[in-house]
Amino acid sequence: MGERRTKPVAIGSVIIGGSNPVALQSMTNTDTRDVEATLRQVQELVEAGCDLVRVSVPDKEAVEAFGRLVRAAPCPLIADVHFDYRLAIGALRQGASKVRINPGNIGDWERVDAIIAAAKERDAAIRIGVNGGSLPKHILAKYGKPSAEALVAAGLEYLDRFLAADFDRLVFSFKSSSVPNTIQAYRLAASKLEWPLHVGVTEAGTKWRGTIHSCVGIGTLLAENIGDTIRVSLTSNPVEEVKVGLEILRALDLRASGISVTSCPTCARTPEDLIGLAERFEQMVSGMAGQARVAIMGCAVNGPGEAREADLGLALGPGKALLFVGGEIVETVPIEQALQRLYDEVVRFLNRRRE
Ligand code: SF4
Repeated sequence: MGERRTKPVAIGSVIIGGSNPVALQSMTNTDTRDVEATLRQVQELVEAGCDLVRVSVPDKEAVEAFGRLVRAAPCPLIADVHFDYRLAIGALRQGASKVRINPGNIGDWERVDAIIAAAKERDAAIRIGVNGGSLPKHILAKYGKPSAEALVAAGLEYLDRFLAADFDRLVFSFKSSSVPNTIQAYRLAASKLEWPLHVGVTEAGTKWRGTIHSCVGIGTLLAENIGDTIRVSLTSNPVEEVKVGLEILRALDLRASGISVTSCPTCARTPEDLIGLAERFEQMVSGMAGQARVAIMGCAVNGPGEAREADLGLALGPGKALLFVGGEIVETVPIEQALQRLYDEVVRFLNRRRE
C-alpha cells in the first residue's frame, strides 16, 4: 500500500487521518426522537465494532434528542444535517463531535459560516459531503456534468472558504452515482487534498448487492491507501454494515481484531455439511473479544495443511474431525462435538494469550 498520510482530525475521542487506523462508522436508522431505540442501536453498532456513529438530525425535536444521545452514547456521535443550518448549530451545541453537511444545500455562505463558528466553539469537526446532485452552478457549467473532476473542484472551492474562515478540522466525502465514478473521484481527491477522506459507496443497495459494491469500491480505494474512515451503506440493519466494513478492513489487514474463520469452498471430497458447520461456528464466535485464526476444512487432503497454518482448526472426515491446536493434531472428535470442542479450544487459546 502507498504512503498517503492525511492530517489527523479528532472526532471526539477517535482520531482519524495521520497514522491512525481506518475508523469504521455506520448510521442509525431509527427515529432519532426515539432516544431509547436510537441509543439501543448505537450500542449494538459499537458492540459489533463500530468506532463512530452518525445520527440524522432532521428537525428541532431531533436536536434535543441528539443531546440526550450524546450524553449516553458509548462513542462519539456525528450529526447528519441537511438544508437547515440552525439544526447543525443546535447539534453542535448539544455535543456533536462532527457534523456532516453539504454546503451545496445549506444556502447562503453566511449560514455555513455560522456552522463553522459553532464547530470552533466546541472543537468539533465538519465533514464536507460533496454531492453530485447539488454542485455549484458555475462548476456544473464548467464541467458539463457531475464528473469526478467537478466533484473535486467543488470540494476544493469549499475548502478555500473554510480555510478563509480559519477552520481546518475537516473531513471530505464525494457522493457519486457509480462505483467507477466514486473510485475516480476519491483518487483525484487524494492527489489534491491532505485532509482525511470518508469513503463509502452511497446507495449501494440491499445486503447482497450493497456488500459487493462496497467491497469493490471501498476495498479498491483502501488497497491504494485512500480512505481514513469508511461507511458501508446497505438497505438493511446497520449492524450488517458494520460487519461488512469490519470484514473489508480485515481482508486488507487493516484491522486484526476478532476471530477470523477461514473455510474451504467445499468439493466432492467434503464428507460432512461443512457450509452449515462453518456458518454456525462463525455465529458462535462473532463478537468474541480477542484475536485468533481458525480454519474449518472439508477433508484430509488439503484440510490438515490449512488447519495447521491457523491457530486452531478442524479437518473433517466422515463422521469425525481432526482438531488442530498450534499446528498439531490434538484429538479426533465425533462430528457432533466438533464445533463445541473447537470453541472450547478457542476460549483456552485466548485465555493463554491474555496470561
Ligand atoms: S479442503 Fe478438501 S473438501 Fe475442501 S475444497 Fe479442498 S479438497 Fe475439497
